[in-house]
This record gives sequence, C-alpha cells and structure tokens, in this order.
Amino acid sequence: RAKTEGRATYRFFEAEMGEAVRDRRMLEHDLRHAIAGNQMKLAYQPQEDIQNGTVIGFEALLRWAHPVRGNVPPDIFIPVAEETGAILDIGEWVLRTACQEAASWKQPLTIAVNVSAVQIYHDNFVAIVHEILLETGLPAHRLELEITETALIRDFDRALSTLRRIKALGVHIAMDDFGTGYSSLSNLRAFPFDKIKIDGSFIKSVNTNSQAAAIVRAVLGLGRGLGLPVLAEGVETEAELQFLRDESCDEVQGYLLGRPAHIEHFLDITQGKTTTTATATIVKDLAA
Ligand code: C2E
Ligand code: MG
Ligand code: MG
Ligand code: MG
Repeated sequence: RAKTEGRATYRFFEAEMGEAVRDRRMLEHDLRHAIAGNQMKLAYQPQEDIQNGTVIGFEALLRWAHPVRGNVPPDIFIPVAEETGAILDIGEWVLRTACQEAASWKQPLTIAVNVSAVQIYHDNFVAIVHEILLETGLPAHRLELEITETALIRDFDRALSTLRRIKALGVHIAMDDFGTGYSSLSNLRAFPFDKIKIDGSFIKSVNTNSQAAAIVRAVLGLGRGLGLPVLAEGVETEAELQFLRDESCDEVQGYLLGRPAHIEHFLDITQGKTTTTATATIVKDLAA
C-alpha cells in the first residue's frame, strides 16, 4: 500500500513538474514574439535633484503586457530572456526606443537604460550603442547605462574593456542596486562608473532600522570620497526624503516623486513647461 501511494505521489510530482516545464517553455516562446507582437512598452520614472526637486532625467523600465497572462513583471521575464538570449533583441529594442524618445524631448534630460550582463558580454554591444546614438541623434552624454555589479563578475577584464569603450563614446554608466549582490568596493574604483544607485531595499528601512541608515550613510560617504554622485532608489515617504537630504544625497527616485508611467504623463517636463513633478500629472504606475 505504501508502495502504491509512493508511486501515486511520484506521478503527481511528475505531472506538476511537467506543467512547470511546459509553462516555462511557453514563456520562453512568447518572449521571442513579444517585440514583434507589440506587447512591450517602456514606462518612465523621473530622477530628481534632491536640492531643488528638478527632474534631471528618466529611467526607462520595461513592461510586458502578455496577451493571456496580463502584465508580467520584469523580475520574472528578464531572467528568462537572459537565459534564452532573447534579451539581446529585447535590450536593443529598449535602447533604441528609449533613445528615440529622449531625442524628441525639448529639454536635455538624461535617459537611464538598464543593461543586462548578456548584452555587455556580447561582441556587438558597443557597436549597437554607437549605432543607436547616431541613428537617433541623441547626444551620448544624455544616455546613462545602468549596470549591476553582478554583471561584472563573469569576466572582469572583458567587462572593464567594454565599459571603457562605452565611456569613450561619451555615454555615462551608473552602478545599479548598489549594496545588494556581490558588492565589492574595489569594483567601484576599478570600473569607470559615473554614479552610484543605492538599492531601494536600504531606503525602505532608513527611518526604522539603524543598520540600514548606517549603510546608506556609508554609501553616501563613499560617493563623496570617490567624487561620484549617489542616487537613492525607492524613495516612498517624506521621512525618507528628509533623511537623504540631511545626509546630502545627490539624487532621488521613487514612488514619492513619481511612479513609472507612460511618458505622456510627463509631457510638461519633457517639453520644458515645468521642471518638477509637483505640477506634472502623475497618474498610475504603468502596471508592472
Ligand atoms: P531596477 O533597475 O533597480 O529598477 C527599479 C525598480 O524599482 C523598478 O521595478 C521600479 O518600478 C521600482 N520602483 C521605483 N520606485 C519605487 C518605489 O518607490 N518603491 C518600490 N517598492 N519600487 C520602486 P521594475 O520596473 O519592476 O523593474 C525591476 C527590475 O527589472 C529593474 O530593477 C531592472 O533590474 C529590471 N529591468 C527593468 N527594465 C529593464 C530593461 O529594460 N532591461 C533590463 N535588462 N532589465 C530591466
Ligand atoms: Mg535600474
Ligand atoms: Mg536598481
Ligand atoms: Mg533592481
């Protein structure tokens, strides 16, 4: 009897596994057609100067409206796209679309674009960035590539050489999600970063957790010492903003200042009618 039950459990397990595998295959398949199927869009989130509250740029964040599943969050589909290599086409589309958009603005705001490790280690990456700048006419210094430390560890020498060539184009580079993953201080010194982005998880507990506050202060000190501006991500409350102001953080981004949204919601800013989010009509998050 125990044997039969064991077998039944195993078959159930097998069926579940089969379903997970089929589901995953379907996601992989659907991802390959998402761009051509017009299912991908970019949401834009403002990045502000903390002193005067003016918008200095926007981060482009990818949104996938799956025809059956609805909105699939990037934390789910980006890793899948990285494993299958679909991120190469998707990433190029993101870069081109974001640069085209930014080139159309009346204000010389920056556009920050997230770049995956798979793109960085691909032979054509620097050529693609260069080509997109020429094609869209966006001045190189207005483009900022956001790269996580985890992307560097696969092959430091190769990553360093690629980032140097990107810098030589005049494009800026930000270290994204600093403090999570494989944080190493030597990375900050060795790689040609222009900005440090503190991960939102530290900002979340800055007023309630003294360790988070200490880490944020330390990163801000590090930025000052290295001469790198620091941007705090995930700012949601006035108390967090005040803490960051008191600690001389340079730039902020988060729901408090503006949710990622269709760029039309920020038309007044991109067209230069206002420079702050306070007067811009910010509606709902272009759902993640
Ligand atoms: P990230 O680059 O660190 O982006 C910040 C994430 O925090 C975004 O999530 C953003 O919507 C969210 N966020 C912004 N403000 C707040 C806040 O005040 N509170 C909270 N709780 N969250 C906030 P999202 O859009 O879901 O993206 C998640 C991650 O997916 C990104 O993290 C980035 O690593 C990746 N990603 C998004 N778009 C792209 C892309 O075009 N290419 C690549 N390679 N990765 C992307
Ligand atoms: Mg980012
Ligand atoms: Mg981040
Ligand atoms: Mg992140």
